[in-house]
Amino acid sequence: VAVFVDGCFWHGCSEHYTAPRSNADFWLVKIETNRARDLRVDDELRALGWRPARIWEHTIATDIDEAVRRIVEELKGCA
Ligand SMILES: [Zn+2]
Repeated sequence: VAVFVDGCFWHGCSEHYTAPRSNADFWLVKIETNRARDLRVDDELRALGWRPARIWEHTIATDIDEAVRRIVEELKGCA
């Protein structure tokens, strides 16, 4: 299992990401590129036999039990 904690800003969380007003075009491309890379990395990991578990930064901060549950769920899938 490969655990990622994705920052709400850098990975474009639908609940918490707000686009900066300055350099808006830059940030739009930057965050979209990051999100596309996340999907690509997940696919590459799966192809290599890993199980990616992506957990939002806000989940760690507000619901650590949910974060642990997600990781355990992936670990059970390895059995
Ligand atoms: Zn968030």
